Amino acid sequence: MTTVPDPMALPGYEAVCVTGEEHNCGAVSGTLHTSDELTRWIAGHCATTGHELYEQTTRTLLRAEPGAWQ
Ligand SMILES: [Zn+2]
Repeated sequence: MTTVPDPMALPGYEAVCVTGEEHNCGAVSGTLHTSDELTRWIAGHCATTGHELYEQTTRTLLRAEPGAWQ
């Protein structure tokens, strides 16, 4: 079988604020569906806290399809 991204599925983006020297801030955006929304969340968090370092996670839904790896 093989896997393909599900064309009907919304992608998921999440950002975690990893700004901090002793420990990370840890603020989480929650799952958003466009990179624009993610950027807006980061802009808002940065505006209120001045934090500048974030880790982004992108989630893609895969669909298994018959193929070479049976
Ligand atoms: Zn932060």
